[in-house]
Amino acid sequence: MRIDVVTIFPEYLAPLDVSLVGKARARGLLDVRLHDLRAYTGDIHRTVDDTPCGGGPGMVMKPEPWTDALEDIAPPGADGPAPRLIVPTPSGRPFTQALAGELAEEPWLVFAPARYEGIDRRVFDEAGTRMRVDEVSIGDYVLAGGEVAVLVMVEAVARLLPGVLGNAESHRDDSFAPGAMDNLLEGPVYTKPAEWRGREVPEVLLSGHHGRIARWRRDEALRRTAAMRPELLARLAPGTLDKHDRKL
Ligand code: SAM
Repeated sequence: MRIDVVTIFPEYLAPLDVSLVGKARARGLLDVRLHDLRAYTGDIHRTVDDTPCGGGPGMVMKPEPWTDALEDIAPPGADGPAPRLIVPTPSGRPFTQALAGELAEEPWLVFAPARYEGIDRRVFDEAGTRMRVDEVSIGDYVLAGGEVAVLVMVEAVARLLPGVLGNAESHRDDSFAPGAMDNLLEGPVYTKPAEWRGREVPEVLLSGHHGRIARWRRDEALRRTAAMRPELLARLAPGTLDKHDRKL
């Protein structure tokens, strides 16, 4: 997968060199390209923002550098499919595990993290004529800029790419994973020793009995979801609860 990120702070994306994403890049599974938006400005001050039309506080990012950058990365009329443009914004659709899975299927993503009060709307109206544009929020709070949101999304997407996780099954049981864990949170996890400071690992996890372990994990996932995110239980598709679930 190819990922381009346009930002006024390329150095903010340094964590993309580290750990799982860094390794995926080193192994050629992920091609990440960072672009400095200021390289697409034409004035001596390398200006990327201006006052908002209609007045009000703050500044708005100018359309020209953004569109020049996007057209340099994905030239209009070029052969081949256009990328999907992801615009982090608190007013976007929520970023979920389902959306991460959808984005992991794409061959090419371009991220446009903003600063200030955001980017002039016309940039996305224009881009939308030749590529899919998704405005995405990573949560109901406001960050100073979209770079952190890009780090969040790239990491969530990268770990779903084939070959990135050592064990291809390890994301199957994650909270929110499509299938059995859809709309469920993972329950508690334990490792050795079996007893530590007088606290014991639940006996069932040491039993070697796969059926009982799966049942216990399912029960704990349901309990945790009910305790932490009861609204998720209400969203479980009809028929996804078995008769043991319903007893809980
Ligand atoms: N005035 C904007 C609003 O109220 O929606 C907030 C702008 S915020 C200070 C600057 C930038 O940070 C946004 O344009 C976006 O790129 C990023 N950002 C802030 N919060 C975000 C969130 N929850 N999800 C995704 N991106 C966010």
